[in-house]
Amino acid sequence: MRRLLSELKSRRESMVRLLERFARSESPSGDKAAVDGFGRIVAREWRRRGAKVRILGQPRVGNHVRAELWLGEGRPAGQILVLGHLDTVYPLGTLRGMPFRLSGGRAWGPGTFDMKGGLVLALFAVDALVAVGARLPKRVVLFWNSDEEIGSETSRRAIEHEAQRSDAVLVLEPAFGRAGKLKTARKGVGGAEIIITGRAAHAGLDPGAGVNAVHEMALQIARLMKMDDPHRGITVQATVACGGTVRNVVPDHARAEVDIRYARPTDQGLLNRKLEALRPILRGARVRVRGGANRPPLERTDAVTKIFRHAKLLMRELGLPLGETATGGGSDGCFTAALGVPTLDGLGAVGGGAHSSKEHVMIRSLPERAALLAGLLLTL
Ligand SMILES: [Zn+2]
Repeated sequence: MRRLLSELKSRRESMVRLLERFARSESPSGDKAAVDGFGRIVAREWRRRGAKVRILGQPRVGNHVRAELWLGEGRPAGQILVLGHLDTVYPLGTLRGMPFRLSGGRAWGPGTFDMKGGLVLALFAVDALVAVGARLPKRVVLFWNSDEEIGSETSRRAIEHEAQRSDAVLVLEPAFGRAGKLKTARKGVGGAEIIITGRAAHAGLDPGAGVNAVHEMALQIARLMKMDDPHRGITVQATVACGGTVRNVVPDHARAEVDIRYARPTDQGLLNRKLEALRPILRGARVRVRGGANRPPLERTDAVTKIFRHAKLLMRELGLPLGETATGGGSDGCFTAALGVPTLDGLGAVGGGAHSSKEHVMIRSLPERAALLAGLLLTL
């Protein structure tokens, strides 16, 4: 571990330069051309390191990138899957108001922390392994999807397929907090859309002829609020609501978006059944529900605890602490953990401000995190 770390410390500047290149290639989930452009940059880096790269073409979202690397002799004794995403939540042009910059020992910019920093760590972890002449016991498959920030709809099956062939999954999502804790438990996540149809009428001349869709929506939201159960790890929140056209017309249309999170796997079905059971309250109104809870929680199972302890020991060899935490945010690690494959999440960069104008990574910790990843690839 110490040799890996000293190799990586000597590469810190190059890590920052590559992070800058990555951050300057904007890649919002909704812009296929932009994500594809960034995917090509990442693919080139892996090819340069001798990986076999396959581009998984997608018609609507950006292409996914799969890289396979074998640093060993003979036949690999298994497979380790490393997961990350190419997309960010920042629309094209964000860089103009939020440029990549270095200050206070941090690298700032859109996507630096979530999760281009993680993508950089993986590349340099491999560089360090090569530099020390390490032979890996297992084949490494790196899967970079393009739609994580919008629910991984087009990549979920491929991720699950790779996970089923893997002995462990390492997820390069950002670490938690300044201490860089790993995420050994995550809530399941879902999103639902509630679409209400009423009947329009003049609000003053003929109000009785109308069915007020906004009122119906308010009543439905009150019902959704009753599904909220924080003690059980369930949160259900209406996060977007809109409806109506002008003040003096009884609105015939309204819609709400609902964010759903749950700690227990069995609550996924329960919440979906409750959503499907929503019925109109006002006479003449119609209620339609789209979506629901779909990403399972990452449970802190024995397999997760065991792989975390292993990571902690690796960091102890460097004299560094490693903590763990539970989070309400979901990730693709939830899919792989639900299949029973040991999954370690939050192995990405240390920093803060994900999805905000304050997004940054701590430069000092880049070599340490890359060393941890390299150590895991070497010993799992
Ligand atoms: Zn992310």
